Amino acid sequence: MRDTAFFRRWMAVASAAVNREAARLTELDSPIGDADHGSNMQRGFTAVGAALEKDAPDTPGAVLVLAGRTLISTVGGASGPLYGTLLRRTGKALGEAAEVSDEQLRDALHAGVDAVAQLGGAAPGDKTMLDALVPAVDALGTSYEAARDAAENGALATVPLQARKGRASYLGERSIGHQDPGATSSALLIAALAEVAAA
Ligand code: ADP
Ligand code: MG
Repeated sequence: MRDTAFFRRWMAVASAAVNREAARLTELDSPIGDADHGSNMQRGFTAVGAALEKDAPDTPGAVLVLAGRTLISTVGGASGPLYGTLLRRTGKALGEAAEVSDEQLRDALHAGVDAVAQLGGAAPGDKTMLDALVPAVDALGTSYEAARDAAENGALATVPLQARKGRASYLGERSIGHQDPGATSSALLIAALAEVAAA
């Protein structure tokens, strides 16, 4: 079973990964975006850390709902509402239990990823974060390591795609040949989950 501390660790490890990779995320957002994805994610996850410290939510669901709400209110870019929705919807799906099973977490993440697809109107193949998130959630049925690898491969597989959603889609065919920044940050979040699950 996974308790509240597990979800706080996930957010902390995710935040550290975002800080470590911020420059790279912004670099990826330069040719096909507006060069703010790293700073958006950094600002958002720094605020998540502060909010979790201040409010000390005491269930897994409450941790993710607060994290999601914080991302929505602190990140101006497209990724804020999308990641915020992912975490908020996942947290809501976990309900008020003090501990959740891996199966419950998988089902909840499924609901969270579905909510991202609904909000953004994107599907796998559109060169967005969903190209990492959808295969990751599918692979969670196997293991956290499989989900991490699926997210990483999904992010790499965005390179030859033409963007059909978000800012990168304005570039049309010129979006081809670049890795999607949001799929890359999604792979970091899933890797953080796999890391805390293995600990
Ligand atoms: P902005 O595009 O507003 O500058 P960011 O740079 O923070 O926001 O995030 C860009 C990322 O958001 C993209 O790389 C993509 O993965 C993701 N994204 C953008 N639009 C959508 C959408 N409609 N559905 C899913 N993900 C999206
Ligand atoms: Mg951007």
